[in-house]
Amino acid sequence: MKRSFIREILEYTNSNTISFAGGLPDEKLFPLEVIRDCANSALQSAKVLQYAKSSGLDSLRELIAQSYTKRGFKTSPEEILITSGSQQALDVILRSIKSQNITVEAPSYLGAMNLFALNGIKTEAVELKENGIELNSFKQSVANTKLAYLIPDFQNPTGISYSQECRDMVAKEIKEHNGILIEDAPYSELYFEEFMPPISSKIPNSSYHLGSFSKTLAPALRVGWIRASKKLIKPLLAYKEVMDLHTNMLSQEIISCFLSKHKLYEEHLENIRNSYKSKMEFFTQELDKKIPEFNYIKPKGGMFVYVKTDVDVYKLLERTMQNGVVFVPGGEFYSDNKNRNEIRFNYTNSTQEQISKGIELITEATHYMQYLTNQKSDRYERINSLS
Ligand code: PMP
Repeated sequence: MKRSFIREILEYTNSNTISFAGGLPDEKLFPLEVIRDCANSALQSAKVLQYAKSSGLDSLRELIAQSYTKRGFKTSPEEILITSGSQQALDVILRSIKSQNITVEAPSYLGAMNLFALNGIKTEAVELKENGIELNSFKQSVANTKLAYLIPDFQNPTGISYSQECRDMVAKEIKEHNGILIEDAPYSELYFEEFMPPISSKIPNSSYHLGSFSKTLAPALRVGWIRASKKLIKPLLAYKEVMDLHTNMLSQEIISCFLSKHKLYEEHLENIRNSYKSKMEFFTQELDKKIPEFNYIKPKGGMFVYVKTDVDVYKLLERTMQNGVVFVPGGEFYSDNKNRNEIRFNYTNSTQEQISKGIELITEATHYMQYLTNQKSDRYERINSLS
């Protein structure tokens, strides 16, 4: 089993490293005070430390169901299964449906690709365009696989979000081919413009919609969920029981307590959106100013900006690592692992000073590599002109 390149990079970093590599939220935005208060009130009763139901805390399932319904996607608590992060949500589903092939975006989330490999599922990659997945290839692939894993909201790694038209077409193709959609949506609340309705809301009986509190509250709480029809949820419960009996109850109580303070929770989400939006604006302005030859699609939400360039990004990383800046080469997010001269930058876990300094160092390294390449081609031209 191949290790995650991102986790390996993170092992090389120290407190002085400027890291654009991990998908880390900004811990300054963790609502420590509310979490502390909610933990205190949960710990008034020993019950919170007892074994509990595999399906999750009832009050939390109710609150999550309500938030879907409020946005027009009618959902009951029985259609929610609480999981230990959305990573487990995907694992539980893959074990239960036992498919051999799956249609995925290219590039896609590394943690999901590793889970497909672990579960012996072969991926069929379909190119991701500016407004979502390339529909002709998607159609052909889903006709064969009958199963798709997509991240339509501010995708990891590209930051791309699907247009409404693309969402409608994906739902139509899934329906037409009697397929199943796994819609992974951990970034859906981190929108900078508008909330986009889940594709699953158009095909509620043939989809799993995955959510997580990792990006909106704190990843160490390890709480995520699956929204699916009762028929699809039922078989998942047996797998969840085998995997970890149930999700951490203290975390679930803390989250349920925070969510029930509706106004406070909304303000918290708004605060994250504003902060990440201004970080993204700053990051892309710095890129435009210092390395205009880096091409990217400006994200409308989420935590990543994805760049295409013509320098060898593995060599670039080798050089910037020595100067204390890291990022993830895009090739890591494709199942064939070919070098594509693409880069995923995470902008949420750095300060403006770090972003500015980090991009400065990447610029210097890029120019140095361009200089070497030009020198080589100059020499080549000189040699050619001699012959
Ligand atoms: N899906 C995607 C697309 C992700 O980017 C991540 C985390 N980076 C996860 C799932 C897993 O998140 P968690 O298990 O923390 O909810």
